[in-house]
Amino acid sequence: CGISAYIGYREAYPIVINGLKRLEYRGYDSAGVMIYDGKKMQLSKTKGKVSDLEAIINSNPEKKVGKIGMGHTRWATHGIPNDVNSHPHPSQSGNLVLVHNGIIENYDTIKKELIRRGYTFKSDTDTEVLVNLIEEVKKNEDCKLGKAVQLALTNVVGAYAIAVFDKDKPNELIVARLGSPIAIGVGEENNEFFVASDASPFLEYTKNAIYLEDEEMAIIRLGRPAKVHKIFDDSLVDPMIQELQLSLEQ
Ligand code: GLU
Repeated sequence: CGISAYIGYREAYPIVINGLKRLEYRGYDSAGVMIYDGKKMQLSKTKGKVSDLEAIINSNPEKKVGKIGMGHTRWATHGIPNDVNSHPHPSQSGNLVLVHNGIIENYDTIKKELIRRGYTFKSDTDTEVLVNLIEEVKKNEDCKLGKAVQLALTNVVGAYAIAVFDKDKPNELIVARLGSPIAIGVGEENNEFFVASDASPFLEYTKNAIYLEDEEMAIIRLGRPAKVHKIFDDSLVDPMIQELQLSLEQ
């Protein structure tokens, strides 16, 4: 299972899909991408291989266009492997979208409460519960996406690496980690960012990486340094930007 995301000035699709291929070794049963073209979030998802996903998208090339994207390879834990259960998962309003590796253990309790508040669910995953919880918190608290993600995560029991995008805030990605790895590749002068389960998807673009630790989240906004802080108490973390030494040979 893996995550590969991009925000910047290049076309996102090739970066995201090639990133997913580099992460295939982690194992998975389905794959999906979201590409944002400045207006619409274009979702493509399928059970099967990254190459199956590519074939689908190649026959819908308009779904490739955009400079923001996120992709996921899923290893199903909640809900069978099928197209609908594949990530990314949009929120009920369609404004937010999320990819997740890990398990939300208390998803059932949260899901029942969200259903009581009028939410309906398209998939059987624990992940769709999390994206709708973030949406509900954002609406209730009338707060920014980063705060909503943080508050939502304080209500979650489980393990996760996540990346979240809000089409109302299209220069921003939020990522968080507890028990599942996530790395951020930093472009020159913060003009682009890469997010992935390990550095292999972005090694050819940048050698500068921030590895989030457990219980950390990052607010990534184009044009400024990534802001890293703890999930469970607001303390800021001075992100260590590591210089990658790895080579691309496999
Ligand atoms: N628990 C999530 C699901 O079943 C994520 C699985 C994963 O780590 O790929 O969809």
